[in-house]
Amino acid sequence: MLARVLLLPMNNSAKNQIYVGVKPGLGSIICSGIICAGIIFNTNVLAENINTKNARVLAFETLTVDNKKTDTTDLQELTPKDLPSEAVAQLTSQLVLNGSLTQGALLRGKLPSGSVVWLNNKRINILLSGDFVVGFGRDAALTQKLEWQLPGQTSRKQKNLKLAKREYNIQRIEGVASKYVSPPKEVLERIRNDNVQIATARATSSELTAFTKALILPAKGVISGVFGSQRVFNGEPKRPHFGLDIAGPVGTAIKAPLDGVVTLTHADMYYSGGTLIIDHGLGVSSTFIHLSLIVVKPGDMVKQGQKIAEMGATGRVTGPHLDWRINWFKERLDPALLVDLTEAE
Ligand SMILES: [Zn+2]
Repeated sequence: MLARVLLLPMNNSAKNQIYVGVKPGLGSIICSGIICAGIIFNTNVLAENINTKNARVLAFETLTVDNKKTDTTDLQELTPKDLPSEAVAQLTSQLVLNGSLTQGALLRGKLPSGSVVWLNNKRINILLSGDFVVGFGRDAALTQKLEWQLPGQTSRKQKNLKLAKREYNIQRIEGVASKYVSPPKEVLERIRNDNVQIATARATSSELTAFTKALILPAKGVISGVFGSQRVFNGEPKRPHFGLDIAGPVGTAIKAPLDGVVTLTHADMYYSGGTLIIDHGLGVSSTFIHLSLIVVKPGDMVKQGQKIAEMGATGRVTGPHLDWRINWFKERLDPALLVDLTEAE
């Protein structure tokens, strides 16, 4: 039986103060359950900082202590008056949202641990830490309804998010090989197959917490294309551009913008050439395309800043560049809203 414990962590800046409810003398807590995996970064700290003055287990089934299953009666539940004020603040706090309220944005949210969240009446995933994320595509509706229910409560709270409307420019690109502007019949099956693989990778919703952190730009170079622009290839209007393009020489190192797990690698897709997708948790993924080389494989855990690939000119391109995309499931988001573009130089 795996431990299933709902812990109340402090905010990210105070990771070393975690509230756990065990009686003195029980020793360390080992979180081995799938639920604890979402907050596994705390486990080492947990072992060192058990302090029942600061402890509260919100909910549990069983708990493994020093590798022995512990009867739940050994757990000590504390009342809010025993908790430090920061913990009470988290229990009673309102929604915290980080990000720009605009089309193309990824918003990172925080609620008290154990809350439930809905976006436009659809329930969305939230980690036991209370972290969640929502994303709004290029042409997202300008009003989005966010609702949440705090732990132990029966009614929902609601906030209408008002998104700013974006203006997108028109990008005219000449000199694209005609087989990429109107693909020949023989390649349609290949394109369909590429799209299925990409959609499957982007549908991944793991409990990784990487998406809560700040992103870094994955490559140095010249910003040569932006999110949302309407593309016109050789005079023919096509789908908008959804990535952030960074141009540089073939072989330029590409680094992971966040920690994550590799969910797809493909050496040569029809449009996107060398293609790599990394999952950052709760449906947030990075896609890197036109790569000349991929140095990781599906299932690999990658760390922020780790080299994952090299820039190339594969697929539909007019020159070597990285096209980096951020998705929240199918929603295509603007990477430029999440990084400092001056890092590119
Ligand atoms: Zn591009």
